[in-house]
Amino acid sequence: MKNNYTHIIPNCILLFALSILTTIAVVPAAFAQSETMHNGFEHTYAPPDHPIVLHAARLLDIESGKIISPGEVLIRGDKIAEVGSSVTHPADAQTIDLGDTTLMPGMIDAHVHLFLHPGNEGMQTVDESAPERTITATLNARADLMAGFTAERDMGTEGAGSADTAVRNAINLGEIPGPRLRLSGNAISILGGHEDAVGFNPAQHVLGNADYANTIDEIVETIREQHKEGSDFVKMYETGRDVLRDGKFISQYQYTEAQLAAGVQEAARLGTKVGVHCNGEPGALYAAQAGVESIDHATYLSDETMRIMREKDIPAVPTFTVFEYFADHAPSPAAAASEHAVLDFKAQQFKRQIAAGIPFAVGSDVGPFMHGTQTRELVLMAQYGMKPLAVLQADMLEGAKVLMWQGQIGDLKPGYFADIVAVPGNPLEDISVVTRVSFVMKGGVIYKQ
Ligand SMILES: [Zn+2]
Repeated sequence: MKNNYTHIIPNCILLFALSILTTIAVVPAAFAQSETMHNGFEHTYAPPDHPIVLHAARLLDIESGKIISPGEVLIRGDKIAEVGSSVTHPADAQTIDLGDTTLMPGMIDAHVHLFLHPGNEGMQTVDESAPERTITATLNARADLMAGFTAERDMGTEGAGSADTAVRNAINLGEIPGPRLRLSGNAISILGGHEDAVGFNPAQHVLGNADYANTIDEIVETIREQHKEGSDFVKMYETGRDVLRDGKFISQYQYTEAQLAAGVQEAARLGTKVGVHCNGEPGALYAAQAGVESIDHATYLSDETMRIMREKDIPAVPTFTVFEYFADHAPSPAAAASEHAVLDFKAQQFKRQIAAGIPFAVGSDVGPFMHGTQTRELVLMAQYGMKPLAVLQADMLEGAKVLMWQGQIGDLKPGYFADIVAVPGNPLEDISVVTRVSFVMKGGVIYKQ
């Protein structure tokens, strides 16, 4: 059977090569003029033909941590051409005066779930079809963009398979509004593990919220399958359940270091990385040793884990907002007390992690709570002990690295994508201004003004 296919392959490769050539020829023109069509639909979101100059009272230079006053950015097409206190004003430029605001790079959320919405979290993946959830995801993508998030890493469709690729592709084609996306597809977890449908009548065969992989061979195969379906990176669930008991954080690991390392190696073969859901030890140590891209949730990290994270530049992504949401929306007073105890423990541990000097990225785990509200994460990270500038640098500079777009997003520099937001006031003095984004541009297209 295998041999029957070999003679077909050259034709397929040829067709594929032709389609790539056609795409390369068509795409720049398509983005230059909004009337160009794709599949019969107009590219609604394309940058204008003329340059744009943004002017505001202030501009945040994220790398130096300095405020430039006033601030101007010249945008040509989807890229930044000049940045400074005053830039070239070409004769055909449209100048937009944003008044008493601060221009800064678009925010990056390194941990989202576009396919989840608030309420009924345990059952929504059972009750709602993948097509229904895909429509929800497009609305969530728009809400996040309007809140100022111009790039996001989606950490799993939670049972909607590779439907996230359709959302990403429609955004990339300018058909619907949304952030730049890095996707993990359906994520990877173990049989009977954190994302499996435990607790149901086994005869009903309720689907888990991730793809199963129990051995190294299965991990490699699942990564290849998800890659084929369009994923950009790999998400593995490394811990669950996690319990705080008598001040001790007890965490069950899912994969051994060798298994995680096999995932990291296979991801590297594909030119990408592995992010892990990981709340505690020993899973965090295994993940750090295996060389993952980020340790998400990171409620408890041992000294040795933090030493390796510093050495290998692996950021923690605390996701405070989802913990706060669960604490404030618990089903009973007893559950609320235990969720609040975990949040308090997490806040204490965060201070220890800051003192240890590990890197951080900003991820909210939005989905279980309302999309478009997750600027709260930056406020909480500052409230729990980080300086506002450090939070913003974690969000933009570390976030760009985690999303594998370093040198392209997360800063206002010539040649970078024109992903720019404006906030009232000065975010270095009062970080809560990030919750009131008044202007959003992504790739030279204005989405909110
Ligand atoms: Zn998550």
